[in-house]
Amino acid sequence: MLPPKKQYKSFSSQVMGINNIAKIASTVGFLLFAILCYLRTCTAIGTILATNNTVKDGDTLVSVGDDFALGFFSPHNSTNRYVGIWYNKIRPGTIVWVANRDTPIADSSGIIMIDANGNLVILDGRGGAIWSTNISTLAKIAHAELLDTGNLQLREVDSANTTKRILWESFDYPGDTHLPSMKLDADPKRKDRTQRLTSWRSASDPSSGNFSSGIDPQKHPQAVIWDGADIHWRSGPWDGRAYLGIPDMDYMYLDGYNLIKTSEGVVQISYDYINGSFYSRYVLDSLGMLKQFIWKEENNSWLNTWSGPDTECDLYGRCGPNGRCSMSSSPICNCLKGFEPKYSGEWNSGNWSGGCVRSKQLECEKNGIGSWKRDGFFKMERIKVPNFADSLAGGSLKECGDNCQKSCSCVAYAYDTMIGCIIWRGDLVDIQQFARGGVDLYIRLPASELDEKKDRKIVIISTVLPATLILLGCVYFLWRWRAKQRERKEHHIHNNKEGKNNMLCFNMYNSAKAPNDSSDGSNTLNDGVKGTAGPELPLYGFSVVAIATNNFSDANKLGEGGFGIVYKGKLPGGQQIALKRLSKSSGQGLEEFKNEVVLISRVQHRNLVKLLGCCTEGEEKILIYEYMPNKSLDAFLFGPSTKEPLDWDKRFHIVEGIARGLLYLHRDSRFKIIHRDLKASNILLDEGLNPKISDFGMARILGEEQILARTTRVVGTYGYMSPEYAMQGRFSEKSDVFSFGVLLLEIVSGKRNTSFCQNEHISNLLCHAWQLWNEGTALELIDPALGGHYEQEQVLRCIHLGLLCVQEFPKDRPLMSSVVFMFGCDILTLPAPKHPAFTGISPLQSDSSERNHENFSFNDVTITDIIFLGR
Ligand code: AMP
Repeated sequence: MLPPKKQYKSFSSQVMGINNIAKIASTVGFLLFAILCYLRTCTAIGTILATNNTVKDGDTLVSVGDDFALGFFSPHNSTNRYVGIWYNKIRPGTIVWVANRDTPIADSSGIIMIDANGNLVILDGRGGAIWSTNISTLAKIAHAELLDTGNLQLREVDSANTTKRILWESFDYPGDTHLPSMKLDADPKRKDRTQRLTSWRSASDPSSGNFSSGIDPQKHPQAVIWDGADIHWRSGPWDGRAYLGIPDMDYMYLDGYNLIKTSEGVVQISYDYINGSFYSRYVLDSLGMLKQFIWKEENNSWLNTWSGPDTECDLYGRCGPNGRCSMSSSPICNCLKGFEPKYSGEWNSGNWSGGCVRSKQLECEKNGIGSWKRDGFFKMERIKVPNFADSLAGGSLKECGDNCQKSCSCVAYAYDTMIGCIIWRGDLVDIQQFARGGVDLYIRLPASELDEKKDRKIVIISTVLPATLILLGCVYFLWRWRAKQRERKEHHIHNNKEGKNNMLCFNMYNSAKAPNDSSDGSNTLNDGVKGTAGPELPLYGFSVVAIATNNFSDANKLGEGGFGIVYKGKLPGGQQIALKRLSKSSGQGLEEFKNEVVLISRVQHRNLVKLLGCCTEGEEKILIYEYMPNKSLDAFLFGPSTKEPLDWDKRFHIVEGIARGLLYLHRDSRFKIIHRDLKASNILLDEGLNPKISDFGMARILGEEQILARTTRVVGTYGYMSPEYAMQGRFSEKSDVFSFGVLLLEIVSGKRNTSFCQNEHISNLLCHAWQLWNEGTALELIDPALGGHYEQEQVLRCIHLGLLCVQEFPKDRPLMSSVVFMFGCDILTLPAPKHPAFTGISPLQSDSSERNHENFSFNDVTITDIIFLGR
């Protein structure tokens, strides 16, 4: 007896263990039986048993080729006598068929004979028939013959021994062994015609055991082992070549295994080897295992080539309805996708017989057949398909699936090229997942339970997508933050919006105009440079600049301007610097500071001072320049007499440099920059006394086509401002030219425009120069500090140019391009200057002159104009 299913732990090993014992037992039994045979009679009767002849216990009927023998035997551990057929040539002997398996003879008195009715009978010692072929048709003459196939046939013959018909044959009444050429039939209409192997009760008891095996002739026939009335194992549907549930079936197929359906609908399995030179057999052992054996002559033993069931998962319905068994998973039973244990408590404790039920109802069940489209199929691979397969139209996998989907009762389908479309209805029973082989099974599920792709989509949408968005958001904000940081670094200015001790941070490109400068007509530098990439401007920490200037010691003081005190300093690398520290009391403020940084960091010329960096910590606003050892020009021109005066060449070199620097600002740089505060103190001199225009706090940018701008906030230095700028706030290139003219006359004379006063009529340098020019004594203007060492022509040209630059009306002033050109060309005849500004009553002060002024052209004075303008 098999142990209860649920007690299986290692079914196969137990079976094998028991089987080995059985094998040994049967071997020993057969040896005893063989010895008995030999001892008793060992008489071979021949191949044919004729009517009225007998085979006594001890005699054998041997097939023509000596392959099989028929006679009496006793199994191991049994004294009962049975009539059986065994292999005649091989030892140990192997019983392949037993006639009286359920009616043994207790002693050796039994005989085999053909009775008067033509039946083959076994009689006991008392003459009682304990077994009969039980044919009802009488036969006058009957012969029994044992064939070399192991089939015992009872035939009706005529007087000439010609076979008239086969009355009976042992192959129609199989025992536990299926021999080659033996057919096992299954008639779906007549159960009584179904032939099954029936196991021995035990190795020593050939009586009918619990297990039987044969064909289950359902729509898709399969081999089955029954345990009583229950299915113990099944092969899965036969597809014409193999059973779908036996992965190694190819081997068997090559050995000639076949299943056919006769014209009467009878299903028949048989196997026959093309090479019949060896013995083989299938035997259903007493433990319910169907085994294939092949005789190995060289080993003188049977080789077990296949067994089924072989594993625990092979046992029918091991995991209950809708469960899936896999020997490679732990536990071996799992519910199919979309199903859950019916009795979870029992399931979890390892009793899987209750199986699984759907977690969610099918859409077609819930909402009617019209909603079948909302169900789909989940694909399972390498599957031993469930029991009770049905057929459906469908010449391809897709058609099969489509047709199955349309029918709500179709809960699964598979497509096999040999069988076609197979479907299942109801519970899915006995599904096994193999490591290899098997087929793809598609299980119907409601859309919500459906396939991993959709699940994956849901997972992506519900988890990955938000995570990605968050990540992208973080990346974006990080990027923005870094961009801002870069921007700030670029300008090295922090905007302290709150006015607290934070780093002063502001965006150069977006910095606001000075509130009181709103009427400039787009003339803030910041506006003008919007959108242009600026060079990197280092930002220095306050501690660095404090150390660099010895904590802003008085000893390091270079001077003081409108912006604040200027200190000399030294950077850690040794570079000398000049630091302009914005004083809190300074009239100039943040706007000028920004202006300076924005502008000077974007223009570069050898005659413009170089801004090296800035510091904007807390309320500190500090500009860091290259250090100019000779400080500013005013110190040389108007400083104490201890300072060595600049000779004429140096002065001329300085003038030329300033002119070039200014031309660069007006024309050659990327922007049209109006400095608005050109003066001697804003001309710095390096060690070679090369001039560098500095202080761009007031500078403004004009549009490319813009000639003039107007401001309500007139800033600049008295004495250098043109009359139109000083009085009307109009600034242009020409207002810078005016400042340049004043500066030029100051350089020649060594006198400040504003501090010059001869009398009440000659109250400034311009009046004085104009007077000397008109008197023809212009050379008297020259700085006496030069000691008469100068180039006369050059000095006169400079005075002439100076007077042209300080003309009352802008249209009479040359552009810087003309100035530069005129400096370099001695042969040019310059236009005669008119009276400069501030030499009397200014026409700009009267209405008429204002009108006149508006009609002035601010267009450039061309060189042609200059040439034809005589003095
Ligand atoms: P400012 O505020 O530009 O008028 O400068 C005030 C004074 O500081 C100037 O007149 C110079 O004497 C001195 N100064 C300004 N900048 C520098 C510099 N880069 N190198 C040396 N001295 C400077």
